[in-house]
Amino acid sequence: MPVRGAEETREPQARKGEVRAAGYDVIIVGAGFGGMYMLHRLRELGLSARILEAATGVGGTWYWNRYPGARCDVESMQYSFSFSPALQQEWSWSERFAGQPEILAYANHVADRFDLRRDIQFETRVTAAHYDEETRRWQILTNGGERFSAQFCVMATGCLSTAKLPEIEGRDSYQGATYHTGYWPHEGVDFSGQRVAVIGTGSSAIQAIPVIAEQAAQLTVFQRTPNYSIPSRNGPMTPDYEGSWKSQYDVRRAKARTMRTGILYDASDANYGINDVSAMAVSDDERRRVYEARWATGGTSFMAAFNDLLTNQESNDTAAEFVRSKIREIVRNPATAEILCPKDYPIGTKRICVDTDYFETYNRPNVELVDLKATPIEAITPKGVRTAAGEYEFDAIVYATGFDAMTGTLMNIDIRGREGAELREQWAAGPQTYLGLMSAGMPNLFMITGPGSPSVLSNMIVSIEQHVDWMIDALAHMRKNGLETIEPTADAQAAWGQHVNEAGHRTLYVKAASWYMGANVAGKPRVFMPYIGGVGTYREECDEVAAKGYEGFVLTPADARAVAAE
Ligand code: NAP
Repeated sequence: MPVRGAEETREPQARKGEVRAAGYDVIIVGAGFGGMYMLHRLRELGLSARILEAATGVGGTWYWNRYPGARCDVESMQYSFSFSPALQQEWSWSERFAGQPEILAYANHVADRFDLRRDIQFETRVTAAHYDEETRRWQILTNGGERFSAQFCVMATGCLSTAKLPEIEGRDSYQGATYHTGYWPHEGVDFSGQRVAVIGTGSSAIQAIPVIAEQAAQLTVFQRTPNYSIPSRNGPMTPDYEGSWKSQYDVRRAKARTMRTGILYDASDANYGINDVSAMAVSDDERRRVYEARWATGGTSFMAAFNDLLTNQESNDTAAEFVRSKIREIVRNPATAEILCPKDYPIGTKRICVDTDYFETYNRPNVELVDLKATPIEAITPKGVRTAAGEYEFDAIVYATGFDAMTGTLMNIDIRGREGAELREQWAAGPQTYLGLMSAGMPNLFMITGPGSPSVLSNMIVSIEQHVDWMIDALAHMRKNGLETIEPTADAQAAWGQHVNEAGHRTLYVKAASWYMGANVAGKPRVFMPYIGGVGTYREECDEVAAKGYEGFVLTPADARAVAAE
């Protein structure tokens, strides 16, 4: 049974007493950008595929994260699909950095334009995926008790899709309304006249706080760790800017795929907005000038101000001090400003935040900042939050407390490979993958932007397209050569794991207790999960593996079973 065309798909024989499973060549889990593009490409290849999606609509992270102020911090001209020249010409973004409603509208447009919905089953959460060695197929179970069977299973489950509530005593005793930024109500929330608490000060909170502050009567922010944040300088899309991209999309997209983050920070610049100079190689005045210019431009390109901000502590200190000086400039109350200044980890090693009026919001009379380092939360009470300094009463609590990132969603599915081996057990000491694409012992199970790939350190759409294209090439190769299974060897996986780890340890990233390191989840192993080698380098590594006949993978012919059985 090599990779077959849709017309050849046969349903597997149901075992005695078993409900017959619906059979496909490929089951895709998740209808975000990764799952949708995978489905589109599989159809082109002539394979039958179905997406199983827990939500009622497409969009993945942009479906769930509807909190006020939610916005992408990669420019929309680049945070969009490149696979269809017609799509990228016909779609227009209204702002430099699109907000969540517009990105969700784009996801829906993609679903409609490519007629994807007829192969997406919504409100269906995958609870288990077991590999059956006899049939060489994945048996997939859903929360509704439905069973599916597929030769391949593609986890397009996203890196930040399992929201994390804090483990604080008394959390369930609270009588007011509670929200998590990652599961925001579709109808929106009206905080007018309310006393609102926000717990957390990561990217989500930093976007939500200025918007909630404008509506609420009183907003109290509970901060454990302050964050470095750069103004977005968001604004309306201009016809000139849009036109410059649309007329040169081919060249620019091709270049972006070779960059470290998959982003061109300044497409009109000879070096695409990357200043290839050490921060220590220039004078104090020049350094300040560069930082001021980056601060004025806004966005994550701040971290490309010099080439060693993430590898040289001394250089990093200069950027961190510059941002602290800006916080002190903006926030009028010096004590509040000091609490907002991050001091105990290098800038950029927790995800750099991008905001609109975040620090300015603390100058509002209706906003209060509580420093949890000085007065930790002791409990959530029926009326609000109790810290070491006393009790605060609220009408609503917003948890902006992040996600069980990168591995949480996969570990919540009961995934079992050869000999019933559980992914949860295999990953107990940290995720084990080859190229972030597959895991040993799990034949024909792919992950889009899995741990061990650049994923969250990159423009996700660039990385999604690269992963899907690589997988499609692999499936086409298998089909052409009568191959039935693909699986990494344990040796190749171990070597890749070491490579990912070494790359991480050459940077300052490992100095921060971040979700990249699993540090935000109690008991989660402290491993730097994404691959920092860069999107361009990583693409070359993946392409080289394929060019060498899928080096590090074992590919089994369809007739191997018959041979083995003799
Ligand atoms: P996050 O970065 O993990 O932030 C969670 C916040 O909650 C942190 O400030 C954390 O403090 C705090 N927290 C957690 N448990 C707590 C507790 N028990 N008591 C008090 N505070 C607690 O999560 P996020 O803000 O949702 O962002 C996650 C990622 O999503 C981002 O890093 C980014 O990759 C992505 N994102 C991107 C955008 C964008 O494109 N602009 C927007 C939103 C999110 P500690 O730091 O002390 O743990």
